[in-house]
Amino acid sequence: MAVSTRNATLLTRSAAAVWHPCTQMKQHETLPLVPIARGSGVWLYDFDGRRYLDAISSWWVNLFGHANPRINAALVTQLSELEHVILAGFTHEPVVQLSERLSALTGGKLGHCFYGSDGASATEIALKMSFHSWRNSGRPQKTGFVSLAHSYHGETLGALSVTDVALFKDVYAPLLRQSAQVPSPDWRLAEQGESPRAYAERCAQALARHLEHHHRETAALIVEPLVQGATGMAMHDAEYLRRARAICDRFEVHLIADEIMIGCGRSGTFFAHEQADITPDFLCLSKGITGGYLPLSVVLTTDIIYQAFYDDSVTRGFLHSHSYTGNALACRAALATLDIFAQDNVIETNKAKAAFLGRASQLIAQHPRVKNFRNTGMIWAFDVDTDDPTFARKFYQVALERELLLRPIGNTVYFMPPYVIDEDDIDLLVARTLDALTKAAA
Ligand SMILES: *Cc1c(COP(=O)(O)O)cnc(C)c1O
Repeated sequence: MAVSTRNATLLTRSAAAVWHPCTQMKQHETLPLVPIARGSGVWLYDFDGRRYLDAISSWWVNLFGHANPRINAALVTQLSELEHVILAGFTHEPVVQLSERLSALTGGKLGHCFYGSDGASATEIALKMSFHSWRNSGRPQKTGFVSLAHSYHGETLGALSVTDVALFKDVYAPLLRQSAQVPSPDWRLAEQGESPRAYAERCAQALARHLEHHHRETAALIVEPLVQGATGMAMHDAEYLRRARAICDRFEVHLIADEIMIGCGRSGTFFAHEQADITPDFLCLSKGITGGYLPLSVVLTTDIIYQAFYDDSVTRGFLHSHSYTGNALACRAALATLDIFAQDNVIETNKAKAAFLGRASQLIAQHPRVKNFRNTGMIWAFDVDTDDPTFARKFYQVALERELLLRPIGNTVYFMPPYVIDEDDIDLLVARTLDALTKAAA
C-alpha cells in the first residue's frame, strides 16, 4: 500500500472504531486525526515521513524520547524473563528494586510503595488510604477532602470529586461526593504589587481558616505541588507547600502530594516537594515514572500510615487492588528511567537546558499578545490575549502545519518537552511557535 494511503486508511478506521479521549468526535469531521507510524527522540513520524516535534511529551509522560535505546533494551531483557505476575502473595525483582529506589529518593521517609496502573488510580489509593488510616486510628469521622481551586487529580469518580476543572466536572456533578476547595496560590491571581510569595502566604492563611472549622471531619488536603497542570500550568511559590505542611500538622490532616505530572524531574528537582523542604504523608507518581513507556502509578507513604493498617484483622488491611498492580515490564521501564537519571545526571543537565530554552523564548515573552510568560523546571507557559473561543483548536492546527505538537489549554500555550530535546530543536520550537502565534492570534 502506498504510504499516503496508509495514512488515510488509518484515519478513517480510527475515527470509525476508536473513541478517542478528551474529544468531541464530531470535530474529526473537519479536524483530521494525526496518524503516527513511529517515534524517535523528540520526533514523531507518520507513514509519509511527515514529522512532529512532541513538545508536550505525549500528554506529559515521555521523559527521554520515543524509542529510547536504553529503555528499549531493558524491556527486551525483562520480556524474556517475566512479563507479569500477580502481586498478591507473590513478588519479583523489578517491583522490589523500584520500591527500594523510590523510597531512597525520598530519603527513606516514604518507605512503603503501593502500586496502581494510572494517575487517577493513584489519587483513589491515596484518598482511600488516608480515610482508612484515620478510621483504623479511631477517627472514623475524618471522611472529607480539601483541594485547591482549579486543581486536577484525575477523572474517575473519586479523583474527579477532588478535581476542580469545570469542563471535566460539571456534567458529572450529580455523581460526585462533595469536597471543599480553598483558594489556589496561582500567582496570576495576586493583587497588583503583591509578590507570588506574599500571595501564597495569604492563600495558606485561607487554608488555615478552613481547617480551623473543618479539621475534625477532614482526612486530607490534596495538592499539585508548584504547578497546577491541567487547569493551564498555574504556578505557585513553594512557600505555600511549606505552610500547608505546617497547617496540616497543626490540624491533624494528611497532606497528599499529587506529583503525577510534576514528579520525576519536571519541576527542576526530582520531586517538586523537595523545593519546599517538606515530606507529604502520601506521594502520588505516574506519567513520567516509566519514561512514558507503560502505564504505572505508585503511592508512597510513611511508616506511620503503614502501621495503622498492620494488624491481625483482615479488614484493617488495605484491600484495594488492580489486576496489573506492580507489572514487571512497567517496573523495569521505571528502573531504566531511574538509571538514566543517575547515569546522565539529568537534574543538573536539565538546568542548563532550561536556561537555554528560557533565553531562546524571550521573543515569545515579549510578544505583544503574550501575558504571564512563566517557567518552572522543564515547563514553560504563557497566556495569549485573544477573545477567540476557538483559539486552542486553531493554534493546535497551525502548530501541526509547522511540525509542532502543541495543545493549548484554553488561551494558555505551554511547552513540556522530553528532557532529551537539544538546542537546535529548542530553536526550531521557539521560532515556529512565534510563527504559529502570529497566524493563530491574527
Ligand atoms: C494526569 C494527571 C492525573 C491523572 O492521571 P491519569 O493517568 O490520566 O489518570 C492526576 N493528577 C495530575 C496532577 C495529573 O496531571
